[in-house]
Amino acid sequence: MSDPRDIPVPIELRAPRGAVVMEIVWSDGLTTTFSHRLLRAFCPCAYCQGHQGPIQWSETAPADDVLIDEIEEVGLYALRLGWADGHTTGIYSFRFLRELAALAELPVEEAKTRSFGR
Ligand SMILES: [Zn+2]
Repeated sequence: MSDPRDIPVPIELRAPRGAVVMEIVWSDGLTTTFSHRLLRAFCPCAYCQGHQGPIQWSETAPADDVLIDEIEEVGLYALRLGWADGHTTGIYSFRFLRELAALAELPVEEAKTRSFGR
């Protein structure tokens, strides 16, 4: 098992109300930018994923950008994102967010083919 303290943590979050991207500055100096659409589509919650396999682009996700209403830190390992469409159960671990960042530049059709372990 890897030491959880080795995982970079967000030191700054930028998600201005009305914006369609969220930016995270990490403790190791990296800055990642996520479109809201990507974050919403890869919501890791049981409702969106509907199974216990890898985390994939959710078929239940709205087709358009959804605004973020609230961001809450969960313990020392994750962020809970509350969306303007009323969906508030997605808990995104820091480790998952770092993996998801690799998809930020991909076209949607390409991102839809990717998946992540839990
Ligand atoms: Zn969800």
